[in-house]
Amino acid sequence: MANTKSDVFSTLDKINVNGHTEVKEAGGVKLTYLSWAWGWKEVKKVYPDANYEIVKFDGIPYAYDPNTGYMVYTKVTIEGITHEMWLPVMDSNNRAMKAEPYEVKTKYRSFTVAPATMFDINKTIMRCLVKNLAMFGLGLYIYAGEDLPDSGDEVVETTPVKQEKKSTPKSAPKEKAEPKNEDDVVPMCAHCFKPIPAHDNYTPQQVANLTMHNLKKQLCWDCAHDYQEKIKAEKEKKQAEDAQANAPAPEYAIDEQTRLPFPMDEN
Ligand SMILES: [Zn+2]
Repeated sequence: MANTKSDVFSTLDKINVNGHTEVKEAGGVKLTYLSWAWGWKEVKKVYPDANYEIVKFDGIPYAYDPNTGYMVYTKVTIEGITHEMWLPVMDSNNRAMKAEPYEVKTKYRSFTVAPATMFDINKTIMRCLVKNLAMFGLGLYIYAGEDLPDSGDEVVETTPVKQEKKSTPKSAPKEKAEPKNEDDVVPMCAHCFKPIPAHDNYTPQQVANLTMHNLKKQLCWDCAHDYQEKIKAEKEKKQAEDAQANAPAPEYAIDEQTRLPFPMDEN
């Protein structure tokens, strides 16, 4: 059978994806997600030779830029046709996640965008693959409305959440560790932007999980140690300042304007 580009598209476009989607509320918008496992199975049923690729950068399955965040890339090839797709790693408000938390101020509210974890990156890769399949027609209609504005919120300002001025090398992920097992996803340190090495009995992923749990950041052991020391020092400094500020508390803090009239003496 002669498969042309339009054959593939019209074949996959006809597949009904209803019942294999999940709707998630994100930042006031309902987003529909198609199951990757299901979608891939449907494609392979029709095109057993179909394959996909998660694009790596020196073995790392994403590109990171401190200003714009994480971006993942995939490629899918069906019947000799390759389409690429890319997707930024975003939080539930559809804001780009970075290695550090940052605050977004809109006209009406402000919120903090949490740093991305490997879980977020992994999830995005799978979504990217699903979207990549949509380029071939599968579930394309799901994305039909996605270019609509997500909410009325216009970003007024984004600021890093208390960035410490430390000698954190700002280098992009260039010189990376050995590409490991193809399926291995290497956790990255949010401070030095290097792959997290194993430490003692901990695997890199365990170090990442541990630091994320304890410090709310995914860090390598050395950066975690430095960061912990820094937090401790800041805490002590703050305690000292608070102690000073709390010293002479006035007993009555009501000013003249808000003071109730003194009750009149009866008799
Ligand atoms: Zn580090």
